[in-house]
Amino acid sequence: MELLPSPGATALAGNAALRGWNRARGLRSRAGFRLGAGLGGARGRRRSPGGGGPVLCSSEAERHPRLAAARVVYGVAPAMGHNQESHPESHFRVPAIVTALEKMELTPKVRGDEIVELLTVKPASVDDLVHVHTRAYVSGLEKAMDKASEKGIIYIEGSGPTYATATTFQESLVAAGVGMALVDSVVDASRITQNPPTAFALIRPPGHHAIPKGPMGFCVFGNIAIAARYAQRVHGLKRVFIIDFDVHHGNGTNDAFYDDPDIFFLSTHQDGSYPGTGKINEIGVADGEGTTLNLPLPGGSGDIAMRTVFDEVIAPCAQRFKPDIILVSAGYDAHVLDPLASLQFTTGTYYALASNIKQLAEELCGGRCIFFLEGGYNLQSLSYSVADSFRAFLGEPSLASKFDDPAILYEEPLAKVKQAIQRAKHLHSL
Ligand SMILES: [Zn+2]
Repeated sequence: MELLPSPGATALAGNAALRGWNRARGLRSRAGFRLGAGLGGARGRRRSPGGGGPVLCSSEAERHPRLAAARVVYGVAPAMGHNQESHPESHFRVPAIVTALEKMELTPKVRGDEIVELLTVKPASVDDLVHVHTRAYVSGLEKAMDKASEKGIIYIEGSGPTYATATTFQESLVAAGVGMALVDSVVDASRITQNPPTAFALIRPPGHHAIPKGPMGFCVFGNIAIAARYAQRVHGLKRVFIIDFDVHHGNGTNDAFYDDPDIFFLSTHQDGSYPGTGKINEIGVADGEGTTLNLPLPGGSGDIAMRTVFDEVIAPCAQRFKPDIILVSAGYDAHVLDPLASLQFTTGTYYALASNIKQLAEELCGGRCIFFLEGGYNLQSLSYSVADSFRAFLGEPSLASKFDDPAILYEEPLAKVKQAIQRAKHLHSL
């Protein structure tokens, strides 16, 4: 039996916390579940059997005039019901980002057409998920919602630990749906302008640890992996380049595409951190050998390390791969202030990454680029870093110097970093 999700807004309507939060944002009356008129209507309608680049449709310009003019498009799925008291992956995370965007005047209300927010999004369907996850996992999680309703909270995986509440299944479908809707937006805009907006999915629960057969490490569904398959399947984009700069290895994304030559997965992470996978010699198998690049960085690596990694590894790798779209697992837990790990990225590091990746997408794939929120557990460094990334997308100067305190940084282990970079370059013939 096929389990079709009910519309997200209906599912979310029972959630008092989300209702309250949406009301505060003035969203109550527009909490529909179809994508807004003219935004991302591609779902299910377009299949390019031959792959290759997108096809220009003459009607696109009429349907998407606002998107074509925008510099940033984003979607918000805060999963207000998916929350555990005092868990770092909490329902405070996305609202903290939205508040920072408002405070720093990075919203459509202030910026007009420069910034577009997708206000109504269709949740992912079970059929969208099964290109990444097993049907048994998806239906099992849906069934577990009865138990979660009864108990309030249940644990669905031990290593994170990963919890679920009564709304987890529906809210996770909404999170994945936002990622897919942003693929629609960016691809549609790229058909009518050389300079489409950069997209950001402000979603949770995060996704990059979720494996094909189950949840893991605070993650429920592999949002970025689902979006990658969707871009291939519905928009005919063949080659997808995924950059994962979360402090943890994106083992779920790694596993989903380990033997796939058309999806390049490049992850930087702190050596020895959760979940312990992503060794430098894990480079893919069979046809996918060479299209996975794992670069564990020594503890203490920071701004200099990451800028060098971008120039010497990420950019040349992407240039050689020639992607049709770039997707980014954007985790902010490598920030020096983050409690869960010990790298030393700063707000400025995240600005540089956002700016460089956007430029790379312009150079290689018509500007098609979508960021997906993964980790980031210090609400202040998380929200300021995302806001500064928005400024990078807009081509505006960084405000990082207002937030970053150089006095708390210590010397980076640059000799070890250089060794790791050389090893990766050697293994991948860069
Ligand atoms: Zn993480």
